[in-house]
Amino acid sequence: MHVRTLTGGLAAVLVMSFPLLDGRAVAAPSADSAVPVVAARVLTYDASGAAEFKSAVDRGAAIWNESVDSVELRPAASGQRANIRVVADNGWPRAVPGSLGNGTVYIGRQAVDQGYYTIRIAAHELGHMLGLPDRKPGPCSSLMSGASAGTACTNPYPNAAEQAEVEENFEGARTGALM
Ligand SMILES: [Zn+2]
Repeated sequence: MHVRTLTGGLAAVLVMSFPLLDGRAVAAPSADSAVPVVAARVLTYDASGAAEFKSAVDRGAAIWNESVDSVELRPAASGQRANIRVVADNGWPRAVPGSLGNGTVYIGRQAVDQGYYTIRIAAHELGHMLGLPDRKPGPCSSLMSGASAGTACTNPYPNAAEQAEVEENFEGARTGALM
């Protein structure tokens, strides 16, 4: 996102005003619409079941919002049906995607207990929701290399190729939605 290149107070002001200035965000379909949307540009997520990982999930979503323009992750309102459900459990972290932008993410305590970084886990699993496959084994610079980068890897950001792939996924979906 372009505001990331700005610095200091100016960036903070722009970030706060951005949703009001962005006509596409205002025009996006509301999540409570009865119309089945294959891939909404705005995706809601419900982290109410994420227990101790809720803040890591919020941060992972914010990282994606900083990194790409074609899709935005927003917390679902209370009682709203979300595109993405995020829950904590005792297994290995995993994603169960439905159609693009929809599904369930499990922030598994097994990996956290082994020392993997929660925000990288959250951003990685959200990456699956945005249509990215695993890229294992891979370097720490790759978000989708996941656990193969080792517990010392705390990078929660998608690399340029991963960003471009998500942009393409949702730009294509938006184009399709207009046909
Ligand atoms: Zn994965």
